[in-house]
Amino acid sequence: MSRQITSVKGTKDILPEESPKWRYIESIIHELAAEYNYREVRTPVFEETQLFARGVGEYTDIVTKEMYTFLDKGETSLTLKPELTAPVVRSYIQHHYDQTYPLSKLYYLTPLFRQERPQAGRQRQFHQYGIESIGSEHPETDVETIAFAMDVYTRLGLHSEENHLELRLNSIGDSNCRFQYLQQLQGDLAAHRDNLCKTCQDRYESNTLRLFDCKNESCQAILEEYAPKITDHLCEECDQHFSTVTRLLDELAIPYILDHTLVRGLDYYTRTTFEITSGLLGAQDALCGGGRYDLLVEQLGGNATPAVGFAAGIERLILALEAEDLFPDFTDELDLFIVLVGDSVRPKAFKILQNLRSEGVRCDMDFLRRSVKAQFREANRQNASYTVVLGENELEAGEATIKNMATGDEQLVPFTDLAKFFRKKL
Ligand code: AMP
Repeated sequence: MSRQITSVKGTKDILPEESPKWRYIESIIHELAAEYNYREVRTPVFEETQLFARGVGEYTDIVTKEMYTFLDKGETSLTLKPELTAPVVRSYIQHHYDQTYPLSKLYYLTPLFRQERPQAGRQRQFHQYGIESIGSEHPETDVETIAFAMDVYTRLGLHSEENHLELRLNSIGDSNCRFQYLQQLQGDLAAHRDNLCKTCQDRYESNTLRLFDCKNESCQAILEEYAPKITDHLCEECDQHFSTVTRLLDELAIPYILDHTLVRGLDYYTRTTFEITSGLLGAQDALCGGGRYDLLVEQLGGNATPAVGFAAGIERLILALEAEDLFPDFTDELDLFIVLVGDSVRPKAFKILQNLRSEGVRCDMDFLRRSVKAQFREANRQNASYTVVLGENELEAGEATIKNMATGDEQLVPFTDLAKFFRKKL
């Protein structure tokens, strides 16, 4: 017997039992996007590798370790998209959206690919939704982005206090004040550099801000004690921006926790950074990450354009909703199951079936030539609301008895009125 092929490590089938959960979440995202006036963009599954090297950062974990990169027949290096900000910005620039939409509000729902070590809440193919708001430097845009991110959870029934949802917030300044801050940070940590872990010692020079990403407890203790807070070192404009962001969040009653360790290591990230975590998840507790990237559009070849966005994982959202039992009941609904008596009625029944479908009735019949008893069993298994028995007698009479499967009530209905019967019922 030949070897059974299974799905690749780190990937999962979304089976029919699961897919209603996905559609439910997706419908809430589409609904919110319409209310917030964001328009959907769908970019290709693969892009030139260069896009991610430039748009995600050559020295990030994603680019150095996690990308699925391959050469096509023309020897061009391509990569399955590991994130979506860079592709969305690429598309924004390529299609000259800056000229038609001075503020482009875009959203997406997409599978992504990263070669990470699979564990609960971490896969190699996973799904994100997110928004990118390109064109405004003003703090209301940051707050709209955060409010959208939070609203997805609220609308699905996840709330800050009851469901251990935390919005953490920080500002990392702009290219001006950050440079001075980094010098101060290096200065204050110089005497403790040898006590940092190997990765932090490397980052000390090359990517100082990312020292805050280290999970090592002794590094964290050193930072806690000696590192200056970035929010104490913002220039006046950045400080103003950040206080407006927090004031607007207060006014909208969106709770947040200030966390000066929440950073992005790359130069094109500016000002606001935020993350939403869930206490319902294990080690992989980040549901959503976002922030401002005022320098990325230019870095990818467009005109200097400020932007802000977030990306959030769907698999982890499903885990959180399951943990709180927040999914509605998704029993499959079939309006009618046609039970056939004898083979001769099959062609006529098939016609009736198709006709009902064209009228919007969700219906099915037996395609396995099963016994009448087995067909009724199938109707029950499929949760059909009604059944109708079709045999030679019914065809001759031009009418059939419809049975309500919940109450057992029966009613005689002419074939010509079948669709009307269901329209009235539904
Ligand atoms: P990131 O693009 O790394 O900022 O991630 C944004 C969100 O996507 C995270 O907060 C997670 O919810 C989700 N996410 C990131 N990587 C994975 C992964 N490998 N598997 C599942 N979800 C992920």
